[in-house]
Amino acid sequence: MENLTDKLKRPLRDLRISVTDRCNFRCSYCMPAEIFGNDYPFLEKSQLLSFEEITRLVSIFQKTAGIQKVRITGGEPLMRKDVDKLIAMISAIEGIDDIAMTTNGSLLPVYAQRLKAAGLKRVTVSLDTLHDERFKEINGRGVSVKAVLAGMEAAEKAGLGVKVNMVVQKGMNEGDILEMARYFKGTGRILRFIEFMDVGNSNGWNMEKVFSKQDIFNTIHAEMPLQPLKPTYQGEVATRFQYQGSDEEIGIISSITDAFCSSCNRARLSAEGQLYTCLFASKGHDLRSVLRKSENDEHIISILKEIWSSRTDRYSEERMQNTDKPR
Ligand code: SAM
Ligand code: SF4
Ligand code: SF4
Repeated sequence: MENLTDKLKRPLRDLRISVTDRCNFRCSYCMPAEIFGNDYPFLEKSQLLSFEEITRLVSIFQKTAGIQKVRITGGEPLMRKDVDKLIAMISAIEGIDDIAMTTNGSLLPVYAQRLKAAGLKRVTVSLDTLHDERFKEINGRGVSVKAVLAGMEAAEKAGLGVKVNMVVQKGMNEGDILEMARYFKGTGRILRFIEFMDVGNSNGWNMEKVFSKQDIFNTIHAEMPLQPLKPTYQGEVATRFQYQGSDEEIGIISSITDAFCSSCNRARLSAEGQLYTCLFASKGHDLRSVLRKSENDEHIISILKEIWSSRTDRYSEERMQNTDKPR
């Protein structure tokens, strides 16, 4: 396998696969209830990539770029029927040795054991606050914090590693950062803070709602001093810190104020088979049609090579440059 890199010499390492566009939550920053209502046109089953199609593509990605890691996401991935079967199919692909899932956690008590048995290694569970009223407001479906914590416990009981993602939105939950840090310190669940991003165009994003990586760091550091940790691998998304005097860590994912485009090696496959070479790309590459038309993997490999080797995306860096300009 030759080294596949893009126009900025970045390899392709990390594949995120969305297995459904549906979700049982309506988080205000992701799928606001006013827009994702009862008559929202979610994808039909025939529009989704089948498990066989996803598996074929992962295998092609593996052969083309040597990817070893796959992350299953959504929408809410546990809303896709029998998703554990897909995990088992991907686990069986030679060269894939790490499968993780990002989930809202609410269905983990039902699925954790099955996911572990299928070959899942780790889950990242999203939780933005420990305050029930605020959490219910954020998730838009009145789901309690307890339900998500029960999901984390079920995952651990099943033998899955657990990380926690907290999206920090100024004016919403920046006051909960310390409480979350205190709560998860000592549990073995690494907490990662995520700057509020402008994903989609329907979440009312503006720069004023971003509580920056520096602000997050300062908030924690003032009470629980932190020291930086070296990245474990090139292109790591989170900047990692350790609490001084312990080996416990936290991470901060700063897609907005400290963009990491120069080392970004991620691609995202949507539920309907569009390949996006940037989280923020508005246009994808239709791999579903290619898959459904072509019996020949070599043809798809050459398309994938062409897509990646033409990649120039650096959306966050460009946005920063534009935001910094005097107006
Ligand atoms: N439903 C699953 C969940 O919530 O974990 C998986 C999909 S969700 C889109 C993946 C991650 O993106 C979650 O951790 C979520 O909190 C985060 N996310 C969603 N919208 C975001 C936004 N506007 N800014 C930052 N993070 C966001
Ligand atoms: Fe659903 Fe996850 Fe989006 Fe919340 S962040 S609406 S749980 S997909
Ligand atoms: Fe990667 Fe795009 Fe995010 Fe930059 S903005 S780090 S290119 S996903």
